[in-house]
Amino acid sequence: MTDFKDADVLAAEQRLPDLLDELKAWVNIDSGTDNKAGVDALSVLVAKRLEQSGFAVERIAMAQTGDQLIGRKRGNGQLRLLLVGHMDTVFPVGAAVERPFTIRDGKAYGPGIFDMKSGILAILTALDCAGAAAQNEYASITIICNSDEEIGSPTSKPYIEQLARSSDAVLVLEPTRALHTLTAARKGIAAYTLDVFGLSAHAGVMPDAGKNAILELSSLIIRLQALHKSIPTVSLNVGGVTGGGRRNVVPDRATAIFEMRAANLAAFLQAKEAIRAVVNSERLVPGVTVTLTQDPAEHLPLEPLEASAALIAEARAIMLSMGLELETLSTGGASDGNTTGGLGVPTLDGLGLIGQNSHNPDEYIQIDLIPQRVAFLIKLLRNLPKSMKPAQ
Ligand SMILES: [Zn+2]
Repeated sequence: MTDFKDADVLAAEQRLPDLLDELKAWVNIDSGTDNKAGVDALSVLVAKRLEQSGFAVERIAMAQTGDQLIGRKRGNGQLRLLLVGHMDTVFPVGAAVERPFTIRDGKAYGPGIFDMKSGILAILTALDCAGAAAQNEYASITIICNSDEEIGSPTSKPYIEQLARSSDAVLVLEPTRALHTLTAARKGIAAYTLDVFGLSAHAGVMPDAGKNAILELSSLIIRLQALHKSIPTVSLNVGGVTGGGRRNVVPDRATAIFEMRAANLAAFLQAKEAIRAVVNSERLVPGVTVTLTQDPAEHLPLEPLEASAALIAEARAIMLSMGLELETLSTGGASDGNTTGGLGVPTLDGLGLIGQNSHNPDEYIQIDLIPQRVAFLIKLLRNLPKSMKPAQ
């Protein structure tokens, strides 16, 4: 960390108590993706906070997942900016009571504090500090706070895509690990379920009348797992198996779940093809049926886009002025940045706060680094309309 301090850092410092107060209220509401009531309760507070920052808020009602929030404001400039954050967490009901917002040794703890309730508050605080004149330099500033990122954004993705298509730059508010880091690349993810249907039989009386689904699945798993690293940047993990149930019965059912990740589109498509080829190859156990089902929530890779170069250059220049040397990370974890970047829209991710342990009960944010990260965001918001050209 640097001891850099200017008017923007001071402005952010002044708003830090308010930011932490609001964050405490947000973190103390359980908002696991499958907890619609919880996400909706949180979204009432988020909507109020967006309105405080001058956004006109649209609530999109969802039947299964929490509602989506879209905040919009208009200016007199050219650049159309999209901000993307999610309100859901990976934690079950009861987590917030068990581990409420707590400050200990300069760190703030609580469910979803790092990933990524604090990211939404960081950018809103930065917008407030940047002020109306700076915001007016944009044609529009839009923010989507979605409700289902942690399961691959199945219900919010169409809205994110639609907003990204009419934007010139996207900032994703996922957390990051240090003051000088941002995320420029994320692997794509495809998730699958593999079902094998065989025929049961008495294992002692008529063993050969059966068709052993577990045996077929085992052979498939070994060949699928062999694809791991067989194509550059590709990883594959068989993460769960179920099947059979009785020692004396030839099993007629077996299922595996697995996922594949790849850093670029070519490798991603090649690996998908290789997976299909394994599944469609000759059966070890004649007569069994195999079905492969891909989870519809697919994330394409967020590749370091040429189109994002101006965005990254601006971030680098600002960090340098603050005594920081930008490091752009590439990570195996996907986010909604994969969706916006996959459409070719300049995207920078990891603009949220600094901490550790996402998806873990020990997740935290580092409080003393908040003013400098918010100051970076203030400068970025102020400079982007000058350094980026609108797409059309
Ligand atoms: Zn996240």
